[in-house]
Amino acid sequence: MRLGQRISQLFSSGTTDGTLADLEDALIEGDVGTRLSSEIVDQLRNEPGIRSSSESAILELLKHKLEPFAVAYDLRFDSGDLNVVLVLGVNGVGKTTTIARLAKFYMPEFGPDRLLLCAGDTFRAAAAEQLEIHAQRLGVRIVMQPQGADAGSVVFDAIESSQAKDQALVLVDTAGRMHNKADLMSELAKIDRIIRSHTQESHYHKMLVVDATTGQNGLRQAEVFHNAIGVDSLCIAKFDSSGKAGTALAIKRDLGIPVSFVGTGETYESLEAFDAGAYLEALLG
Ligand code: GDP
Repeated sequence: MRLGQRISQLFSSGTTDGTLADLEDALIEGDVGTRLSSEIVDQLRNEPGIRSSSESAILELLKHKLEPFAVAYDLRFDSGDLNVVLVLGVNGVGKTTTIARLAKFYMPEFGPDRLLLCAGDTFRAAAAEQLEIHAQRLGVRIVMQPQGADAGSVVFDAIESSQAKDQALVLVDTAGRMHNKADLMSELAKIDRIIRSHTQESHYHKMLVVDATTGQNGLRQAEVFHNAIGVDSLCIAKFDSSGKAGTALAIKRDLGIPVSFVGTGETYESLEAFDAGAYLEALLG
């Protein structure tokens, strides 16, 4: 059941301290995060007239309280210069698919010749080949090395090669093996240093992909990546497969990270710029 439906049901027979406590549980189960859920419900408890409000009035009030945590990041580039997007996330969240969709999304602005994919996941078997298939289908160039190569050197090659060929947007895939977190984070820190030394800060964007269906794990993953190298925006993948997906709100509350994109399917076209109003409507509507 979608979160909004569950909340309507809760309040259909009036508002009591019990239903407000159940609301907190429903928000937590909807991945809004324990801290934010408890803060919001505390605020609602103190709202004048809350106990005589209708269910639709309560949903509206809730939406209003959540609005400051549904924040869009409008990812734009200076197409006259080199721009790099480092795409982060644990295995399986939808990182590779998101890179392909980002290439498709920015294709009208850059054209295929000025886009470059970089296969920075040199750890997972077939990760580079998977990205290569996308590159071929999309008609864009890819820089890759054999599995096991140094990821930093692939990224360095991609940046050098993009400069030589006047390519303006480099989309970098990265490894997502969380079972060896320390190694992964030091590899990412190295990649980050390489990109920073070749790109203007304002032209370098770090995007974390989180899977809308994996619940509270999204917040934990965001904490790990944000503490390691800093995350500029989120892409919420598999939004179409989740009735909850409140993770974005919890991540904004705890880490301050806004959302650039939402993944809404498995095709190249299924990536939408984040629309805060539509997101809250989908969550609570
Ligand atoms: P990676 O390991 O993070 O690179 O994950 P992949 O990009 O390979 O995606 C893992 C699976 O999730 C694939 O089967 C994708 O087709 C699927 N997937 C990715 N994004 C979405 C999305 O927005 N919606 C749906 N329904 N599936 C998605």
